[in-house]
Amino acid sequence: MVRINPDKPVSTGTTKPAELDTVLAAQRAAFNKNPNSDWASRKAKLVTLRELILGHEAEFIKAISDDFGNRAAEDTLIAECLVIQGGISHAIKHTPKWMKTRKAPTALQYLPAKNVIIPQPLGVIGIISPWNYPLQLAVMPLVGALGAGNRAMIKPSEYTPRFSQLLKEVLAKGFTDEEVFVATGGVDVASAFSNLTFDHLVFTGSTSVGRMVGKAAGANLVPVTLELGGKSPVIIDESAKMDMTVARIANGKLLNAGQTCVAPDYVLMPEAKINAFSDAMIAKAEEFFPTVAGNPDYTSIIADGHYARLQDLLEDAENKGATIRVAGDDDKQQLAKERRVPLTVVTNTTPDMKIMQEEIFGPLLPVVASETLDDSLDTIQKGERPLALYWFGENKGNRDKVLRETISGGVSINETAWHVVQEDIPFGGVGPSGMGAYHGEAGFQSFSHMKGVFIQSKFSQGKNLFPPYTNKTRKMIG
Ligand code: NAD
Repeated sequence: MVRINPDKPVSTGTTKPAELDTVLAAQRAAFNKNPNSDWASRKAKLVTLRELILGHEAEFIKAISDDFGNRAAEDTLIAECLVIQGGISHAIKHTPKWMKTRKAPTALQYLPAKNVIIPQPLGVIGIISPWNYPLQLAVMPLVGALGAGNRAMIKPSEYTPRFSQLLKEVLAKGFTDEEVFVATGGVDVASAFSNLTFDHLVFTGSTSVGRMVGKAAGANLVPVTLELGGKSPVIIDESAKMDMTVARIANGKLLNAGQTCVAPDYVLMPEAKINAFSDAMIAKAEEFFPTVAGNPDYTSIIADGHYARLQDLLEDAENKGATIRVAGDDDKQQLAKERRVPLTVVTNTTPDMKIMQEEIFGPLLPVVASETLDDSLDTIQKGERPLALYWFGENKGNRDKVLRETISGGVSINETAWHVVQEDIPFGGVGPSGMGAYHGEAGFQSFSHMKGVFIQSKFSQGKNLFPPYTNKTRKMIG
């Protein structure tokens, strides 16, 4: 997978690598003084976090919008603030149960001994987050980390410097540096950050940087959760209700102007239906956004380099024979000035096109002719394991076959993206789209050590296994 960040990073460079070491040491020392915080103190932290985020919602909306050029306020409210609110409420409701010591069965030959599992905080969690949903992707891992009783250090992306500075200032109002610390700066800071000896490191970003972060963490034997990207396919079954399908794909693709890790990347469907689908997608995009230039509800592409990358994907596809259809009739120069890209449907695609090889991360939607379900499954299986997979249809047999025969991080059926905000199911990738998971109980477990404890009984028969060995020993080991 090609790295999708071609721009020169914006450097704010405020955190020095030496400061990172100092903060980590201070967090670890504070943790060691009180390594198993009780529920009351964890809950207080989650409540503080919720108040801080909600209390500064308008400032976050503005800072993120300024970083993007324009970020629709609703994109921030729906895909960041609401998700965080849901995540914190869920954690507050369920963590007391998750943090309890659990009884585990004991095999017959070890009775009357007992087994228990004690969930224990790990210590200091490192969080590296990307620019596309800067608030959600910094704060949701923090919710899991704090709920599990940890301290945390966060390094947001250099592409959102205003947001990063605001996050630092806002979190400092409710947390000491020994509890939660935000590091700001460029790739140099991120790289130093990934080399710290955290007790767990959560990285959200591209697959290529994920490889580097995994390597750095591996050298320190720091366990990682890698939340990466990739090409998330959509299969449209013969049985799909087309109006609903088109509206939901358009919504998933246009949220944040397609700059979403789980955005539907490309569509697989029978050739005979592609023209009608393409017409309907264009019509739906024009209904959602009658104009794109100057429309405050339509998010801009984050940086010039990303805008150029999307134009390059289209040029490459066109040169190789694709048909390109752009929604609306906005002035091209104005769109370029605002870094806004309308929904663009790309048909007559072939596998050699860059748009079929790289994660798109923008509102371009290639459609691939695929006559049967087996053809679609074959295409997906030949690619890297995706972060998300979408299937639209009513035929339950086909739906179940897709669920059985594909491996992806997660799935939404007759929807795009919404599996991500279900706190009762894990969220994560698989293979090149990631490793490990968080959200809800999955997050609690990722940021806890599930300590297995064997409690021997004074009535144990175990002494029969002590030397010198006797007939009783031989009887016991069979
Ligand atoms: P990116 O990989 O370029 O950057 C992510 C973070 O890594 C940033 O904070 C950056 O500062 C840091 N970084 C950059 N170079 C580094 C290095 N050498 N060592 C350590 N850290 C480094 O990703 P991006 O462009 O910010 O985000 C887009 C990508 O993230 C897409 O591929 C998208 O699919 C993926 N993503 C995944 C999820 C998910 O939950 N799975 C969510 C959002 C985005």
